[in-house]
Amino acid sequence: MKILAVILIILCGSPFCQEKERYTKARNQMVDSQIAARGISHPATLQAMRKVPRHLFVPASIESEAYSDSPLPIGYNQTISQPLIVAHMTALARPAKGKKALEIGTGSGYQAAVLAEIVDTVYTIEIVPELAKESAARLKTLGYGNIMVRYGDGYKGWPEHAPFDIILVTAAADHIPQPLKDQLAEGGRLIMPVGDPATVQQLIVLTKRKGKITEQRLEPVRFVPLKRLN
Ligand code: SAH
Repeated sequence: MKILAVILIILCGSPFCQEKERYTKARNQMVDSQIAARGISHPATLQAMRKVPRHLFVPASIESEAYSDSPLPIGYNQTISQPLIVAHMTALARPAKGKKALEIGTGSGYQAAVLAEIVDTVYTIEIVPELAKESAARLKTLGYGNIMVRYGDGYKGWPEHAPFDIILVTAAADHIPQPLKDQLAEGGRLIMPVGDPATVQQLIVLTKRKGKITEQRLEPVRFVPLKRLN
């Protein structure tokens, strides 16, 4: 124990540990001022966002901007969503222990990690092969053994693991793919930006009860387009 304490003291005087502490502080500030202050109150979502190291999900060159109030480029013409949007979509999905989630649009893997802090398992599909590979490696390094990343076209969902209690689509299209509606579990919730993929969309929440789907339309949002593989 004593040796461990000494090692910790030595390490925490190091730039590595100081940087880690600085990012932890920035992350808590992000949650307080950008998320909780704007009305997101779902405790598990706030807790997850205080924990997931967002700076390790963006390119090293912009690491210091990771906790700013905006989306950021992650390469291949794609973006990691603004923290508020990630929190909002997570809270809307009503994640909880025992649930299984599907995400379409892995991107950096950040949204998947936030969900994986709360639910049992996250399945996530990414259409850019390099991003799928990078995110899978990142999530493995960070110890997220409950996230499965797959390269492919998420339009068709992941039928082998359906049904899902939660389906989050983090790319925009002018309609909700039928396979995703079919793969929603009883009592499940699907969140997706729907509208003109080139301009503005509306955040939609679908709920399935007794096999019947109801739709709730929320505020305008902007996401990158959902692409299709030929
Ligand atoms: N959730 C991500 C950000 C999403 S950006 C994060 O937390 O970082 C949208 C992502 O959707 C991009 O990476 C894009 O390549 C991917 N995408 C677009 N169309 C797709 C499709 N049909 N299937 C799977 N992924 C898709």
